[in-house]
Amino acid sequence: MALVKSEGMVVRRRDLGEADRIVTLFTRRFGKIRAVAKGCRRPGSRLAGHLEPLNLAHFLLWKRDGRDLALVRSAELIEPCAAVTTDFRAFAAAQAAAELIDASLPEDEPQPRLFVLMQRFLRALKTPEHAVPALLAFSVRAAQTLGYALTVDGCAACGTGLPAGEGRLEFRSGGLVCAPCADTSGAAGEDLTAASVRALRAAAADPPRATRSEDAAPAVRAVHRLLCWHQDRRLPSSERLLAESAAVAPA
Ligand SMILES: [Zn+2]
Repeated sequence: MALVKSEGMVVRRRDLGEADRIVTLFTRRFGKIRAVAKGCRRPGSRLAGHLEPLNLAHFLLWKRDGRDLALVRSAELIEPCAAVTTDFRAFAAAQAAAELIDASLPEDEPQPRLFVLMQRFLRALKTPEHAVPALLAFSVRAAQTLGYALTVDGCAACGTGLPAGEGRLEFRSGGLVCAPCADTSGAAGEDLTAASVRALRAAAADPPRATRSEDAAPAVRAVHRLLCWHQDRRLPSSERLLAESAAVAPA
């Protein structure tokens, strides 16, 4: 058993027994870790206020050899994720990013670059009208960091240049594909309108260019489905939230 410390944030939590919680943490040093927070649902628990989703905190954890779950010994808030509580669009985008982290990362594998990207993304939510485009830019970089090239300029299968217009994000190839490649492969993927293809390219640019929420939302869904397809996972709640937030919030 080892006592370790790291900055991190809760990306998922569920109740355990009468007073405990299992939290999934995204930490700077260790990547994704699941841990038990004992007694944190009791009134007056010192842990409770420090385990709100997506708040940045210092964690002290017992990591136990051969055990799935670590133990949270202490948590101390560094930076609250305030934007999330004040705006539905920011909340929906943050929730989707948290689910993406939870669904697409293996446990106990450090992802320091992705951690920095996540921090930047959460700070960008202070401008809620840009929440969905910011989520798309984060998702594209998350996919690239996790090893999916996410080719958006040329066909991911054959390398030819892609014309402007509608397109198809193919999951196995890991990017947009040209019409002949899409027709012959029959692989899982998501068709995108010309506006959403433009939003995807704008998000992949460095720095990302501004796009409209309603164009970015379908591209977010396509990138998240690509990641979940590779991990054999689904992202049900964030898909619904995002669709709702894009519908109420044309930017
Ligand atoms: Zn092709």
